[in-house]
Amino acid sequence: MVFSVDDCFRTSLAEARAEFISAAHGVDFTLRSLTHPLQESTRVPLTVEVARTGAREPEHLLVLTSGVHGVELMAGSGCQVNLIRSGHCENLPDGTAVLMIHGVNPVGAWRMTRTAEDLVDLCRNFPDFDSLDAGGEEYERVHATLMAGEDYSAVERLMEEMGKRRFVQALMDGQYRHEDGFGFGGTRPLWAHRVLLRILRDEARGANRVTIVDLHSGAGAFGAGMVVCMHTGKALALARRRFGQALIAPRDAQAGEYRDALGHCADGYERALSGRELTSIVLELGTYPLDEGLRAIIESHWAEVRGDYGTARRRKVDAAMLRHHLPDDPLWRRAVVERCAEIFSQALS
Ligand SMILES: [Zn+2]
Repeated sequence: MVFSVDDCFRTSLAEARAEFISAAHGVDFTLRSLTHPLQESTRVPLTVEVARTGAREPEHLLVLTSGVHGVELMAGSGCQVNLIRSGHCENLPDGTAVLMIHGVNPVGAWRMTRTAEDLVDLCRNFPDFDSLDAGGEEYERVHATLMAGEDYSAVERLMEEMGKRRFVQALMDGQYRHEDGFGFGGTRPLWAHRVLLRILRDEARGANRVTIVDLHSGAGAFGAGMVVCMHTGKALALARRRFGQALIAPRDAQAGEYRDALGHCADGYERALSGRELTSIVLELGTYPLDEGLRAIIESHWAEVRGDYGTARRRKVDAAMLRHHLPDDPLWRRAVVERCAEIFSQALS
């Protein structure tokens, strides 16, 4: 079947979901859909699609997830659709099944935000809530300026003072103190957290080996696909063998300039899938330089705190969020689907 790479990418949750369902129906996938409870009040479809193909009782389950950071779904979804349409999920090695989880955080994808409901960063929502580290010491400094009157020039001055890299890291560390703050990990597991781990537990039943590739976008060089691995020890060594030595391992002693993130999804995977050989990575599809997107990311956060929906001002912010996380550029799209296909093959090796 001839298809265009561009057509795999869609610019809203509803369209991305329709494209994914049509791709999965075109080949031998079984498909199910889980509905977020907020759908009752929003009256727009807020669903997570779960599509599976390959061995019924696999030894190895390869999982590809998209949209943990809401708006990043548009890039991840296009890559998932492309993998299906280009035949990568057919003729899998014996004993292998492929599971695609589409739109893990449908609320964020619908709102064009990185966060889920209640301003929670789903990718920081997996700490041990019983013995919580409030975290984000560096973030404290950022928070005061960030939340004082939506003044972007003040944010820029602080960025200059701290250094851009340190500022961005403080923003992304994860914190459990400020409910209106950036990188807030929540006070309990979100719906998407519980559903994601339940899907993994159910679908991985009987599999000895599970590989998870979590598709993100918006950080790294334009069109590149940076591999980040939050494991340590044996699991990290295995990830390096499979995906190459260049991967970034923030929890490794030699992590260098890269910092750990609190309550990362990978902590949840480790708990849910203990006893199996688990390799999980984040594939970060790079777009524009982060300082270009940072303003959109921060203004989107302010709009959510303010409860600004449906205004012209908000639409402008949403458009900037979309552009930063899904460049409207055919060359970018071709580059990321190729990178994703390469990672897919490495994951099966
Ligand atoms: Zn992300």
